[in-house]
Amino acid sequence: MIKIENLTKIYNSRKRKKCKALDNINLVLPDNGLVFILGKSGSGKSTLLNLIAGLDKITSGKITVNGNEVSKFKRKEYYNYRSSNIGFIFQHYYLLEDLTVYQNIKLALDIINQKNKKQIYELIEKVGLKGKEHKLPTELSGGEQQRVAIARALIKNPSLILADEPTGNLDKNTSEQVLKILKEASKKALIIIVSHNKEEADLYADRIIELHEG
Ligand code: ADP
Ligand code: MG
Repeated sequence: MIKIENLTKIYNSRKRKKCKALDNINLVLPDNGLVFILGKSGSGKSTLLNLIAGLDKITSGKITVNGNEVSKFKRKEYYNYRSSNIGFIFQHYYLLEDLTVYQNIKLALDIINQKNKKQIYELIEKVGLKGKEHKLPTELSGGEQQRVAIARALIKNPSLILADEPTGNLDKNTSEQVLKILKEASKKALIIIVSHNKEEADLYADRIIELHEG
C-alpha cells in the first residue's frame, strides 16, 4: 500500500523561479490494480512519480510504501527499494543501445544478483517478442522497444511499476498491446501510469486520479 500525506514539492532552482509542482496531495493506493494519473503537461505528474520512486526530495509531507517512509530510507534501503521493488517504464524506453533484447532484460536481474534464464525467455514470449531475443533496440519498432522496457521492469517481479507516459510515442494499436500487458501485470502488482490520454484511462484504469496544477 502506498500512502501519501500532505505531499508538497517546491522546486527551487536558481535559473527558474520557484515552482510549486505539488500542492498538499493526499492519496492512498492499494497493493495491486491499474491506476491512471491524468493531467495536462506541467500539472506535476512526473514529479509525483519521481517522489514515489525516491528519485527526488520531497519539500514537506510524507510517502509511505508498505509501511516504510520513503524519505527516511538510508542509502542502502533506497538502493534496494529502487532496484528490487520498483519497475520503471518511460516514454523514451531508455534501453541500452548496444545490448540485445535478452541482455537488456538480463541486466535488471544482474543488478539485484539474480539469474533466471528461463524466466527471461518466458517473459520475452509473453510480451510478444519471441524470435527477437538477440536483436538490438535499433532493429525494433517503437512498440517493440517499449515491450522490452516492460519486460525489463517485470523481470524483477516488482510490487510497484511506475510508468511515465508509456504510450506517449506509440500509435493506437501498439499502445493497446502495451496497456494489455500492463493490465495483466496489475493483477499482481500496483501499476501507476501517468498520462494525458483520458480515452486510455477510461478503457484500462481501475482508478483515475486527475491532477490540476499540482
Ligand atoms: P508533468 O509531468 O505533469 O508534465 P512535471 O511534474 O514535469 O509535470 O512538472 C510540474 C511543474 O514543475 C512544471 O511547472 C515544471 O516546469 C516544474 N518542474 C519540473 N521539474 C523541475 C525542475 N527540475 N526544476 C524546476 N521546476 C521543475
Ligand atoms: Mg511528465
